[in-house]
This record gives sequence, C-alpha cells and structure tokens, in this order.
Amino acid sequence: MTDFAATRAQFHLPDGIIYLDGNSLGPLPKAAASRVAHAVTEEWGKLLITGWNKAGWMDQPIRLGNRIARLIGAAPGTVVLGDTLSVKVYQALASALEMNPARRVILSDTGNFPSDLYMAEGLCRTLGNGYVLKTVAPEEVEAAIDGTVAVTLITEVDYRTGRRHDMAAITAKAHATGALTVWDLAHSAGALPVDLAGTGADFAVGCTYKYLNSGPGGPAFIYLAPRHADVARPALSGWLGHEAPFAFDLTYRPGGGIERMRVGTPPVLQLAALEASLDIWDGVSMADVRTRSIELTEQFVREVEAACPALVLASPRDPARRGSQISFRHPEGYAIMQALIARGVIGDFRAPDILRFGFTPLYTTHADVTGAARALAEVMANTLWERPEYKMRARVT
Ligand SMILES: *Cc1c(COP(=O)(O)O)cnc(C)c1O
Repeated sequence: MTDFAATRAQFHLPDGIIYLDGNSLGPLPKAAASRVAHAVTEEWGKLLITGWNKAGWMDQPIRLGNRIARLIGAAPGTVVLGDTLSVKVYQALASALEMNPARRVILSDTGNFPSDLYMAEGLCRTLGNGYVLKTVAPEEVEAAIDGTVAVTLITEVDYRTGRRHDMAAITAKAHATGALTVWDLAHSAGALPVDLAGTGADFAVGCTYKYLNSGPGGPAFIYLAPRHADVARPALSGWLGHEAPFAFDLTYRPGGGIERMRVGTPPVLQLAALEASLDIWDGVSMADVRTRSIELTEQFVREVEAACPALVLASPRDPARRGSQISFRHPEGYAIMQALIARGVIGDFRAPDILRFGFTPLYTTHADVTGAARALAEVMANTLWERPEYKMRARVT
C-alpha cells in the first residue's frame, strides 16, 4: 500500500492553506528546491557545457520519460519530454494526419481544452487542402467516428467537469474505422491509472506541471505507440529529433523510436524539478491513488451537497466516470471562489460558472476535504462572496 502520509510529508504545503488546485499547478516537492539549486550551482555553475554529457542533461528527457511511462501504462522507451503541451498536441496531430493521408477530418469534442482545438485549427489552416477540425458534444464522440475521420483528438478527462471518456472504447472504434487516436492526458497523468499500451492508443501527450508537480512552465510529454515508432514522421523536425544531431547533416533524418519526437534543447532546470517530483512518484501505486482519489472526491461531494444546496454538481456522480476533480456550478462561481481563496482554500474557476477542485492523493487528506467543505458552506450560508473585490476578475482565473 502506498503510504500517503509519507508522500504528503515530501511536499511544501504552506501553513493555513488547503490546496485543491494541484490539477492546475502541483505544489513544490521539498527536494525540488535543493535539486534545482544543485543543477544550477554544481552542474551549470561548475560543469558549464560539459554538463550535457557529465551531468546527463542530454538523456534527461528520455530518462524521465521512462519514469512517467510507468504511470500511464506505457513501455519504457515510448515517452519523451519537451516543449509545452500545446506544441506536443500539434506535433502528434501533424504526424497522425501524415500517417492517414486519404482522410481530412480531425475529430474532437466541445469539452476539450481550447488550446488543443486552437492548435488543431491552426494546423488545418497551414495544411489547407481540405483539412478540417470537427467538434461534437463529448457524449457523441464515439458515434461520430466514421470513415472520414483521420484522427481523434480527445482529452480523456474534461478540464471543466472532470467527465472521463472511455479510452478503450473510443480507441477501438477509431481503429475499427481506420482512424488514429491522439489522447491528451493533461488531467489523467498522475490522476488515475491509464493503460496506453493495453488500449492500443496511437499517440498521447500530457503536462507535468499539473498532477506530476514539475513546477510552473514544466515541459510536456509525448507518447508514440511502439508500432508507429519508426513510421511516424515528425512535422516539427528539430535537430535533437535527428538521427545524428551532432553530425550536423544538411537534411533531416528522424531518430530511432521516440527520440524523433524531440525538437530542440531540453529545459534542464525545469527537468531537475520534475526529477525531484518523480522520486516521490516512483514509490506510488496508481491503483492506490485511484482508490484514495475516489474516497476523497466522494467525501467532498457528500459534504458540499449536504451543506450548500445552491451549488449544482457539474461532475459525473459516478466516480468511475470522472477523473480526480469535482466541479460545481453557480452563476457567481468566480466571486465564490475568490471568497474561498481569501479563507485559505485554493481551488479555481473556469468560465462561465464552474468552481473546480482538484484532489491529489499524494498530499490531499480527508481533513483537507472537511475543512474545504466547511469553508465553502460558510461562504455560501453568509453570502460572503458579495463583496466588490471578489468580483474583480484577475488575469489568471
Ligand atoms: C493544461 C492543458 C493544456 C495547457 O497547455 P500548455 O501548452 O502547457 O499551456 C493544454 N491542453 C489541456 C487539455 C490542458 O488541460
């Protein structure tokens, strides 16, 4: 059994705060501060450019990718880190479209994170030639996969509601109709067990700064199914994805396997922070995370619904059909969240009316859940949100 008291002790959690926003930005692993300081002073400071070899900087994106692979049901050598998630979405889609040249449709859903949709739109515009992005309601994705679809672009867990798609069923339907799949695991990696190899997913991408705690700006990851590893052609054909970057050839030849999905120089300092987080993750069972996540989310729904009749559950009631977050709707959701944050409970708001709370078993406790539900009940019962300062929208919500 995973010892969640021990994992919690490895995070810096400020006094007086209940943090329910690790689904947006994970907290600081205590060891990350010294690991990053070491990378700065001992590696960069003393080794200078020899750090690429001596400190293993060049292999870091693959080495850490292998540690993430275990958490998402992927084989070693199929995951690499780099760039941001938006860029990785573009890269995966471009490769998938090239592998399915007779078709022109990217299928996604209206619950997807806008950046994924924007990247798909931009790619279609660049390609011209009849490429289109088609979106349907989340419940209609499976039925909408037909012989015109080249690739599905689906985020497994909806960032607003926490609704979870059936990855196995959608992947099977896509393959039966000759489509490829790109799965976005932004709200899955570190949140719930994922079985990329078992479901046969073609491509997957995800972030590390949410449930995987790599810190603000931490790089994304990309997964490529082994059967495509020597077939997929990277549209973002940067030198570090080349077969021999230091041959400085004038023409591009993709590297072997997942190496080809690298683009440029890796973010070494940010990867040092991720490494400290993965030291915690290495001892964690995703099955245990899921069990505890369901306990925490069920407790939160029960306690909030009992005390706050004005809040409407926006997440699926069946825990099997959601990720590791709970969302409630209220027309004054933004101001309610600001009042709650002022009382030391940090969640976030997603337009138009969603109060969002992430549950991250590595450091969220049952006492946190009760404390958060109580604070929310006080805000609602006393309409504490009706203050002008809580209604002023900040740049980041
Ligand atoms: C968080 C998130 C992103 C963010 O992309 P960045 O390029 O890292 O800013 C993209 N897609 C989804 C589904 C997300 O949840």
